[in-house]
Amino acid sequence: MTRLLLKNARIVSHDSGTPEIRAAHVAIEDDRIVALPETLTGTDFADFEPVDMTGRLVSPGLINAHTHAVLLALRGTIEDIEGNLVYQYMVPASYLLDPAERAAIAKLACAEAIRSGTTTMVDPLRHVADYAPAMIETGMRLWLAESCADAVTTEVAGGGYRFDRAFGETFLDRTRALIDRFHGAENDRVRVMIAAHGPDNCSPWMLGQLTDMARQHGLRRTVHLSQIISEKEQVEKLHGCTSTEYLDRNDFLGEDLLAVHWTFCTESDVARLAETGTWLAHCPASMSAKGPHPLPMKAILDHGVKIVLGTDNMTEDMFHAMKMAMTLHRGAFGRSVSPAPQTVFDYVTVNAARALDHPGIGRIAPGMKADLAVFNLMAPAMTPRVSAISNLLHYGHPGLVTDTMVDGRFLMRDGQLTTMDETEVLAAGQSATESLWHKFAAEDRGVPLPATDPA
Ligand SMILES: [Zn+2]
Repeated sequence: MTRLLLKNARIVSHDSGTPEIRAAHVAIEDDRIVALPETLTGTDFADFEPVDMTGRLVSPGLINAHTHAVLLALRGTIEDIEGNLVYQYMVPASYLLDPAERAAIAKLACAEAIRSGTTTMVDPLRHVADYAPAMIETGMRLWLAESCADAVTTEVAGGGYRFDRAFGETFLDRTRALIDRFHGAENDRVRVMIAAHGPDNCSPWMLGQLTDMARQHGLRRTVHLSQIISEKEQVEKLHGCTSTEYLDRNDFLGEDLLAVHWTFCTESDVARLAETGTWLAHCPASMSAKGPHPLPMKAILDHGVKIVLGTDNMTEDMFHAMKMAMTLHRGAFGRSVSPAPQTVFDYVTVNAARALDHPGIGRIAPGMKADLAVFNLMAPAMTPRVSAISNLLHYGHPGLVTDTMVDGRFLMRDGQLTTMDETEVLAAGQSATESLWHKFAAEDRGVPLPATDPA
């Protein structure tokens, strides 16, 4: 049995319902927090391994509610290229990488996530079985999903939408295999989610299949919603309505759905999404690479939509997502101090745990999972400090993270990753990315390639 006592810490507690800082020692037994004493007498927890946390803030681990680890391979390229990035670059990249390359990039993404204090990733993409073992090995808590579509997504960039049930069955079969192999694995550290890629590339038949499977296995669902203009136009052309209306007609909205982006949602879409309890998984940083993400944020906040955050593409840095969320959400009211830093902090902790239907994560309290991020308070970004949460949300960065823990196991301890050789992981990720761009260039897809540094 593992017994740890994180001594002399400040912790982020939710005792009063909102994140607050207080002094505590954190006693951990195996995968759980068992006690949070404010004071210790000499013999308390004598058989627990002491870990000094003086000058450190112990926080619930950050939860990234939407990312694609493998698409980290596109980092520093398509942020600076115009075009239909989803179909011209992201879908091809997910096919062009070979299984070992997918695993290498996914592991690199986990390294970055752990270094940014992230303990949980929700990751829908394709060929998930190729890279799931590499992600699981890193010790992170995961929701994995095969991103399903029955429009042949590999053809959309060149020739538009062709629906093919056999193509769709491939992804349904892969989802069934993921559930059999990974759902509940590693003492329930790994779960499977049901993912519809988007309303433009999933027919009513596909949406029905996915909802049936989710209900049969009691799984959460996710979908990209009103992400890009080509999706909006295709749904209008095929179904004569908005993406939200299309999902609603097919009984796809609901409290068990994490809907990502909402870029082109109308005010009445937002009202309907709020009414159904559908979650907004907002990815404000990746969606703002070319200017502030133009989603109907005021309507979203006015309707009291439930919000969680993701990084989506090319980064696993949740600090970036939190800062951009504060900027964009406050900007919905012109200039404002709402939402408060505490509210945004809850997006990535307690809200995300609710969205994922996991009552054991997202808060620090006895009985909760020991999924923790530790931040260095004795750093310039945290000094001077009147409100640690305010400093963290406005000025926080991955360099503040000293330790990351999942299920009571350190994935990073005192700045060192414990579940991987970081030098090797960086080298393998770099070589996978170079290989990807060589394949892009060799195929001559008629799309611009990124400017590269000289060798
Ligand atoms: Zn996405």
